[in-house]
Amino acid sequence: MPNFLNLVCPRCGADDRVEIASQLWLRVTDSGTEPDLTGTYDYTPGSPAICTNCSYVGTLRQFEDAGKQSGAAS
Ligand SMILES: [Zn+2]
Repeated sequence: MPNFLNLVCPRCGADDRVEIASQLWLRVTDSGTEPDLTGTYDYTPGSPAICTNCSYVGTLRQFEDAGKQSGAAS
């Protein structure tokens, strides 16, 4: 398995250059905002994902689907 989510770029097939845009939760304080104490962040199948190898931009789901297809082929 290439990475722990088995994400693969649908365009170039890279499995080690995938990045996810996650949502980071911030604690609002009297002086501003800061990451909450546990550093909680979220991503969903609809979260944006990018391949830094070929600059393909899609959703996490698209990279998951490509990972499933490559897993089935090998
Ligand atoms: Zn790519």
